[in-house]
Amino acid sequence: MRVAQPVIGAQTLVMRRMFANGGGSVNQSRPVWFTIAQSMCNFIAPPVCVLCGGAGQTAEGCWGLDLCRYCEAACERAGRGASMPGSSTHTPFASTLALYIYADPVDTLITSLKFGREPAFARVLGTLLARRVRAAAPLPFPEAIVPVPLHRDRLIERGFNQSVRIAHHTAKRLGLPVVPQLLRRARRTKAQSGLSAAERATNLDHAFESVRRSRMPRHVALLDDVMTTGNTAQAATLALLSAGVERVDVWVCARTPRNP
Ligand SMILES: [Zn+2]
Repeated sequence: MRVAQPVIGAQTLVMRRMFANGGGSVNQSRPVWFTIAQSMCNFIAPPVCVLCGGAGQTAEGCWGLDLCRYCEAACERAGRGASMPGSSTHTPFASTLALYIYADPVDTLITSLKFGREPAFARVLGTLLARRVRAAAPLPFPEAIVPVPLHRDRLIERGFNQSVRIAHHTAKRLGLPVVPQLLRRARRTKAQSGLSAAERATNLDHAFESVRRSRMPRHVALLDDVMTTGNTAQAATLALLSAGVERVDVWVCARTPRNP
């Protein structure tokens, strides 16, 4: 899918950032001044769809969304009918919440963030994921969000961790803290997608370490951009549990369908 180049100037971006994330979390009532300021912001700098360049949505709660309704509907339809991996009762995490299936145009949203380094895509994904979590209203609700970390070498190569960026937008909208320092990659691993089943099973052994802190959250949401085999989420969850976290739920922007 062709990706529209964001046509947002620096001054406009500053205004949008001031009001897109401000005014408190979704669990707090917003003051009148915020609603007025947000309306002015949407009038002066209306949201622009990151996929088609059309008009974004101004009525996403009290903030705009840089995704038009047509492209959002296309994301909802992505991969419809695809066979999803069956849920296993043997995973160490308690539940999985996936925003979309990893198919066109959802893959464009994620790869444009990952390799195109466009921060607007993180804002869109983080906002939509928060909306999905609110709709699902999981109980019990996590105390914090832990993004899946990159190895230091990969972080230096890419310059940022896409899961951290998405997590900050989701967390702001849900009123949760982000605690990336709770989990780190202990060693660099190969990409799971190119490995056999046997290699996948051992590739992530001891790949993560969790740092025990004086005040460990008992229940966290582990956030990743894409879930493929689920092995990464399992390895990260085991590290968190070993450090004292009692429950881990997994939130992902997209989940790949089962291979035919
Ligand atoms: Zn669009």
